[in-house]
Amino acid sequence: MARADHYAVLGVDRGATADEIRSAYRKLARQFHPDVSADAAAAERFKEVAQAYEILSDPEKRQRYDMFGASEFGDAAGFGIDDLFNTFLGGTRRRERGPVRGADLRLQVDLDLEEAVAGAEKVVRVPRQETCGRCHGSGAEPGAKTATCGTCGGRGEVRQVQQSLFGRFVTVATCPRCAGAGKTVDQLCTECRGEGRVHAEREVAVQIPAGIDDGQQIRVGGEGESGMRGGPPGDLYVLIRLREHQRFRREGDDLLHVLRVTPAQAALGDAVTVPTIDGGAAQVKVPAGSQHGQSVRLRGKGVPRLHGSGRGDQLVYLEVVIPRSLTKEELSLYQKLKQLRRDPERQDDGILGKVRDAFGG
Ligand SMILES: [Zn+2]
Ligand SMILES: [Zn+2]
Repeated sequence: MARADHYAVLGVDRGATADEIRSAYRKLARQFHPDVSADAAAAERFKEVAQAYEILSDPEKRQRYDMFGASEFGDAAGFGIDDLFNTFLGGTRRRERGPVRGADLRLQVDLDLEEAVAGAEKVVRVPRQETCGRCHGSGAEPGAKTATCGTCGGRGEVRQVQQSLFGRFVTVATCPRCAGAGKTVDQLCTECRGEGRVHAEREVAVQIPAGIDDGQQIRVGGEGESGMRGGPPGDLYVLIRLREHQRFRREGDDLLHVLRVTPAQAALGDAVTVPTIDGGAAQVKVPAGSQHGQSVRLRGKGVPRLHGSGRGDQLVYLEVVIPRSLTKEELSLYQKLKQLRRDPERQDDGILGKVRDAFGG
């Protein structure tokens, strides 16, 4: 495959200065870098551009290239273009120099069932890295003098040529002295010691929607760590944990609880007041002939639907409690009942099974 003319690849003429070559390369590299462009052809183009710059930015190589041309040069120099390419892709150099988005943060919030049902605002303490207020993230003490970095000459990157069995490898790394900024300052920020960010602990109000369930997450945009070099902040993710409730058990949007009734209430039916999750009360009509384990549904007294409208139901499971001891009067009544009916109606084991499933008993 014939190699393209390196000058043409960079779009400069043969007499271009080092600065012109560098700025042409940077412009093209930004355009075709695989991190930027999803186009498959762009990766090929980026290789070409990187290869052209590799040669034309090095006075010695450029001279040889000018003398012998593309066909002569090629692999004769023995450097692996793929390794150069991988250096660009694998390294964090690009990311380190440009704006970097702040990290996302995660924390957990424990909620009572009442709070999950009603919705709540929870104030959480978030320890995080924030942009330094004194230097506004630059890391330089206000009023400090800046100078071009002597290590990288203002380019922000250092290039190293390594000789190996497989040829010469050129690696490009962030300048260790100026961390890619290209400039150095004579005094670092006294607040952040040059980091550009400081540790802070903030109180963040988290709006918890009514109907949230255990294990769900709420994203609070922009409340993660501050970005660097003008990058946006990360997000805060709040994981919801629901505490066990004394009385109610949640099942989806329904709330389950147990109402204890006497055999007489079950047999005759009754109207009983039960508590609701809102802190109020509701009337439950226990039908005559109710069986142990049977449930009564209170519509719309459950959990608000997080996606959608309305609420689930409150399911009142009836637990028929047989008296362990009887008063004298009860004793005579039970004896009479016993004489009146000696054969029980058939028990429905299926209902008992359901109670056991629902309550883990
Ligand atoms: Zn600072
Ligand atoms: Zn430097």
